[in-house]
Amino acid sequence: MNAGLHAIRGPLLNPSPTAGVDHFADGVLVGDDRGRIVAVGAWDEVSPRLNLDAAAVPRSEGLIVPPLLDAHIHIPQHPIRGRFADNIGVQPAGGRLLASLEQNVFPAEGRCEGPAHARHVVADFATDTLANGVIGGAAYMTVHPRATRIALEQLPEPWSVGLVLMNGRCPGYLRTDEPSLADDIAALAHDFGRRLIVTDRFAVSVDTPLRKQGVALARNHGLRMQTHLDEQRAEKSLIEDVLYPDAGSYTGVYARDGLLDCEPILAHCIHLRPEEVELIAATASSIAHCPVSNTMLGSGVMPLDVIRAAGIPHALCTDVGVSPTTSLLCEMAQFLKVHAGSSAAATPEEALRLVTVAPARMLGLGDRIGTFASGMEWSFIEVACEGPLPVTAREAILRGLLGTTEAVLEKWQRGDGAEAVAVRRLRDEGLDWGHDLAVLDADVRVTTVRLEGRVRRVTRAGRVLWTSPGTLR
Ligand SMILES: [Zn+2]
Repeated sequence: MNAGLHAIRGPLLNPSPTAGVDHFADGVLVGDDRGRIVAVGAWDEVSPRLNLDAAAVPRSEGLIVPPLLDAHIHIPQHPIRGRFADNIGVQPAGGRLLASLEQNVFPAEGRCEGPAHARHVVADFATDTLANGVIGGAAYMTVHPRATRIALEQLPEPWSVGLVLMNGRCPGYLRTDEPSLADDIAALAHDFGRRLIVTDRFAVSVDTPLRKQGVALARNHGLRMQTHLDEQRAEKSLIEDVLYPDAGSYTGVYARDGLLDCEPILAHCIHLRPEEVELIAATASSIAHCPVSNTMLGSGVMPLDVIRAAGIPHALCTDVGVSPTTSLLCEMAQFLKVHAGSSAAATPEEALRLVTVAPARMLGLGDRIGTFASGMEWSFIEVACEGPLPVTAREAILRGLLGTTEAVLEKWQRGDGAEAVAVRRLRDEGLDWGHDLAVLDADVRVTTVRLEGRVRRVTRAGRVLWTSPGTLR
């Protein structure tokens, strides 16, 4: 083998920046001493060209795929993941989202004011995301500048973190310290640059003056923004009918106040009217699509074909703590389920693109990670794949990454079974909040158990960052 080269051989999936996924049943990924990719492709083609010695090239621990990225996740909710809506009634007034925030989420976020607790939460978050193959993304911290600084210091560089703005409909202990906000953002931006995201919690909890201040600060410091949009019906009517009756729409609030001009990542975007889609598409906004969260809170299903037709960039994200897991494999599985039979675009190949190359571009990391190409980082994860080697990309993703089969996917597409019926009602806004939600919740938790722990090893720019217990090398 050439001096200075490193290689790993095994079944390999390479998501394309444009469409589809390349699959090599016997592939190889070659890197150099600087942790950059030198070559990717079929072993039979690459190995003679680079004079690779089969005896010297280690075999992978399963499928080789690019590392995963999560562009919407809440760090302080990591300790309560999957318990977001615990002890919330079937359909409380105001909806499950607002009730859960008040009862379970705000207390968890309040605890991060203490630096020791914040450090502990961030450390667990870092370990758990890495164990699921996630090496970066865009996260929300809390309203506390000190906790935000801790997260930015402790998390590796592909993570961006948001200092959360809130000044209404939240407990007093979670209000933004408005007099010192400009200084807090200036100090964090000075030390961390665009890894700091100015974070408008959502229009329910942030009034127009605070949002405009956030927009001005983002512009001054060259930062982007993130927020939530059109997640639940009750939330949408509170914003459009009560809080901002003059804004035209929920999206209109963010357009009017300048947020849409700050390259925002907009989470959910389920209940968009056509004019809202136009507002988003006219800006450099992108959408965090969170099928597990949208299922477990009964929020609905993002209109995938509408978003694609409008050309709005989007990626799959966990929205932990609603999701019980930081596994984006679980998110891929749920993406296939919620769009089964309603969107031809929801393919296994597209699901993989939406957790790799799509978020990498959204996060400004697309020239380094997300796909395998010469000159990019020699960064990859290895995912356990039992049984015979998959023959196609589709089979490799379904069986290898998601532990499922074509037959199961077809069942969802036909609408067979209580789970598929409940998903259809979720999509058509006819959900039975008792029975259907219980069925869907149980299905997500079964999938979580199946898909957590499949990642065997995580390598970033030539350095092994994480190895699953029981993996030898
Ligand atoms: Zn969220």
